Amino acid sequence: MIRISDLTKRFGAVEAVRGVSLEVPQGAFLVLVGPSGCGKSTMLRMLAGLEAPSGGTIEFDGKMVSDGSREWTVEASRRNAGLVFQSYALWPHMTVAGNVEWPLKVGKWATAERAARVAEVLSLLAIDDLANRFPNEISGGQQQRVAIARMIAPKPGILLFDEPLSNLDAKLRVEMRTELLKIHRATAATSVYVTHDQVEAMTMASHVAVMNHGLVEQFGAPEDLVAEPATSFVATFLGTPP
Ligand code: ATP
Ligand code: MG
Repeated sequence: MIRISDLTKRFGAVEAVRGVSLEVPQGAFLVLVGPSGCGKSTMLRMLAGLEAPSGGTIEFDGKMVSDGSREWTVEASRRNAGLVFQSYALWPHMTVAGNVEWPLKVGKWATAERAARVAEVLSLLAIDDLANRFPNEISGGQQQRVAIARMIAPKPGILLFDEPLSNLDAKLRVEMRTELLKIHRATAATSVYVTHDQVEAMTMASHVAVMNHGLVEQFGAPEDLVAEPATSFVATFLGTPP
């Protein structure tokens, strides 16, 4: 369960996030959706611990990980959260297996357990046959699978995705939506997924938060947002008549 209370982020004069409160139940697949510049990535980076909030709090499973008012934060590596970006950011000098094993080495997993876990996640992502290739020897879609495998390897309880499919072609993007949901269920994690694509949001989400100008305009089940959009922005953005 993720509890976000009155979260804000300022970059100088820019108010990127302006007081967001959300409760995301354990096991939910929350999609943050909204137009470019509305604050989605900033929200995700604060959840990941890569950006300190200017105010407000974030709790993971009842544990405070960010307290903007006290300028105190649990560091990224200790949050039990994994993040995947649009650009895959794999280590170019490491093989696929090496990339996936890396966070387990950092987490001081025993050698035998590391090998077993790497085999397990490579198989889950259907990239077993790429284990010994380097990132520049595989396709963009395969690289994104490796990035996802690397994220889930240490078994984070919270999965954070920032537009992970936006560099893929349309067909692969649709395929990967189903795969990502399968992975989400297999890991029993709580996921937060950022996209500006409303179709992606509505097809993948258990919960949706529609953002605009640093605020959440509406939060709820996708079918409820379509049936009863709270604002004309939500109605227009989701493409339903107000
Ligand atoms: P996109 O869909 O284009 O990725 P987004 O919803 O992810 O957009 P953010 O990246 O969160 O938007 O940016 C929100 C606002 O904060 C924007 O106005 C952006 O210019 C500003 N911003 C983000 N990061 C910084 C930064 N490091 N310094 C200054 N301003 C920033
Ligand atoms: Mg973004």
